[in-house]
Amino acid sequence: MEDFNCLECSACCFSDQKYYILISFEEREKYKDFSLITLSNLNFIEMKNGKCPALLLKDDKYYCSIYENRPEVCRKFERGSGCCRTSRNQNLVQIQLRKDAISE
Ligand code: SF4
Ligand code: SF4
Repeated sequence: MEDFNCLECSACCFSDQKYYILISFEEREKYKDFSLITLSNLNFIEMKNGKCPALLLKDDKYYCSIYENRPEVCRKFERGSGCCRTSRNQNLVQIQLRKDAISE
């Protein structure tokens, strides 16, 4: 496997899709401080400006502010998988552009 470093990446925490971070019915209480949305009986944490609202930027690095309590779907996301590679291909350039814009 290529040496993907999640701490230098965060690409899978970005998406232009509104319905992206799927949470279970039971997880809704846990994430009630975020804006939650429902589609066809499925529950999601609402994305904000193309990224997960739990993803914060500090010292030029994005980090998950709820890492120890992140949703099950995030725990199951496999580093190096096809989805991981797709996220990196789609989002890494945009992420760097955002960082550059913030630091200017
Ligand atoms: S896209 Fe892959 S390498 Fe990047 S943070 Fe997600 S799992 Fe880690
Ligand atoms: S909860 Fe954390 S790991 Fe999951 S998408 Fe949001 S920032 Fe990424």
